[in-house]
Order: sequence, then C-alpha cells, then structure tokens
Amino acid sequence: MREKLLQIAEEAEKAVEGAETVEAVEELRIKYLGKKGILTQVLRGMGALPPAERPLVGKLANEIKLRLENELVVRATKLKEREKAQKLATERIDVTLPGTCPFLGSLHPLTTVRAEIEDIFLGLGFQIVEGPEIELDYYNFEALNFPKDHPARDMQDTFFISDEVLLRTHTSPVQVRTFEKTAPNVPVKIIAPGKVYREDDDATHSPMFNQVEGFAVDTHIAFGDLKGVLDSFVRQMYGDQTRMRFRPSFFPFTEPSAEVDISCVICGGRGCRVCSHTGWLEILGAGMIHPRVLEVSGYDSEKFSGFAFGMGIERIAMLKYGVDNIRLFFDNDLRFLNQF
Ligand SMILES: [Zn+2]
Repeated sequence: MREKLLQIAEEAEKAVEGAETVEAVEELRIKYLGKKGILTQVLRGMGALPPAERPLVGKLANEIKLRLENELVVRATKLKEREKAQKLATERIDVTLPGTCPFLGSLHPLTTVRAEIEDIFLGLGFQIVEGPEIELDYYNFEALNFPKDHPARDMQDTFFISDEVLLRTHTSPVQVRTFEKTAPNVPVKIIAPGKVYREDDDATHSPMFNQVEGFAVDTHIAFGDLKGVLDSFVRQMYGDQTRMRFRPSFFPFTEPSAEVDISCVICGGRGCRVCSHTGWLEILGAGMIHPRVLEVSGYDSEKFSGFAFGMGIERIAMLKYGVDNIRLFFDNDLRFLNQF
C-alpha cells in the first residue's frame, strides 16, 4: 500500500509538471483527487489494511493529497500568468479607432424655446408661476370678462369636463389666480407658461399647445411699458434687426388690445411665402388689462393698471426654426427631433 501510494504520488507530480494548459491541470485534479480519482480510490481501500498499519498509511496518504493539491494550484497559477503575458505580448489595442457612442437624447425643441423665453423674461424681472390645466369656467372665461353668452367664447371652444370645469383654453386664468393672492399689493410681474387646449386641428393649430402668458400690474403702467418689454423680448429672441408693430385687435380681458407682428424672420421684411408677401409675421396678442379684470380680483382700477400678453410657444419655435407644420413637434419622429 505504501509503495503504491508513493508510486501514484511520483506519477502525479510528473504529470502536473508536464501540464501545459490550465485545462490540463484541471483534468489532472479530477483524475487524481476527484470523486472517482485514483488517490480517492486508494484511500477508500484502506479498510482492508491491518489495523496497525492504518494510521501510518493514512498519514502518508493525507500528506500526498495535500502536496498534490498545492502543486496543482501552483502550476495553474503559473500557466495563467504565462497565458496573460502571451496575450499582452501579441494583442494590440488601437486606441485611435472610433469608439461606440451611446445614444444621447436631447431637449425637445419646445422645451428649449420655453427655457429661452423664460430666461429672457427672468432677465426683465418677471417671475414664473404655473396654474392648473383643468380649470374652472370662472377663471378661464367669466373673470376674464367672457360672460356665458359672449361670442368670443366661440374662438376658444374647448373640451368640457362638466358645465363648470374645462381644459383651459389659454394661460390667462393664471392672471386671475395670481391677482387673488397678490391684491392689493404691487408690483406684480409674472410669466405663466404651460399647456392649453382648443378644438383646433390643422397645419398651424393643435388641440394641445403651449402658451406663455405675461402680465404686470403697478401704479403707473402704461402702454409704452408693454411695448418696451415686448421689443426687448423679440430682439433677444430673433435678433436686434427685428422690427415690431402693433395692430388693433380685440380680447375681452384687455383694453385696448393689439396683435403684435414682427418683421419676417425669413425674408427680413421684403416679402416671401412664409409671411404671405406682407413682410410681417404675427407672434402674439397683448393689451392693457381690462379694468373689470383688475376689479374682480381685488385691484382698484383707479389706482392700478397693468398690461398682459400671450404667445404660443409652438408659433415662436416654428418661426425660429422654420418649421411649417405644428404636428412635427408632437409626432416624436427622431429624424425631426435629432435636428435640434
Ligand atoms: Zn417673409
């Protein structure tokens, strides 16, 4: 038994030394030390030995087993290192090859334009306030001087949830909501961006779109202040060469009211297809806040005055980027969105 063990040990050690791959070392481990391995089999046969010999042979067998285990690990480590060194010596990584770039998203053009508008008005001393998209008839119409049967309601037909609850048709209700909190304190200088809803759907109108409302109330606010603020806005938005004009208009909640045009951003005012050869583009509506709107929210219209304006963010973005169909903003077509 002793001789047999020593013979197995010698044979195994030679085999381990001769193993040339990590896989070969693993095969040897199974061959000698595995469940059905040679050394394991011998150890199982110990029961047949005379009791006096068992401790000595058992001790020897364990020593051989431990030594072999150790040699297997040493050899495997050596081979792994050799393989690594070979790899390092032969493989080259070309760091000048272009990498694989992960897909990067970007801001939606409407988000960018909204942020630009907000930046400009923050620079002019305005604060940003938001209001609910599901609005009461009172804030959307009544308090803004649209009585129940007023024909101006027809231009802003919308989605009614009940007789008194609707999806807001403009961001102007934020005026009334703000005044209720601020009155009778002044000054108030607010812009209110957000989504609005109307029953419109064509190349330049969408049932859902974004507006920015702006308004200011103080003791001596005049029409000239409105012009100054809007002039500063269009120059920052479309460039210093941009001219602006006011055309008389009507809104129930402003008096006087005006539509504001800018000189065409495409042709510079000479006339082109985009401006229908007029040289002008309409960008927003504005006016002096109607005294009744101030009164219903708690401001004495004899003491205070204010201006208000409202613009569509999509309209501003369409003119800025030369986009001719409003639906492109909502189609989520990456070929379109990737251009911004
Ligand atoms: Zn033009």
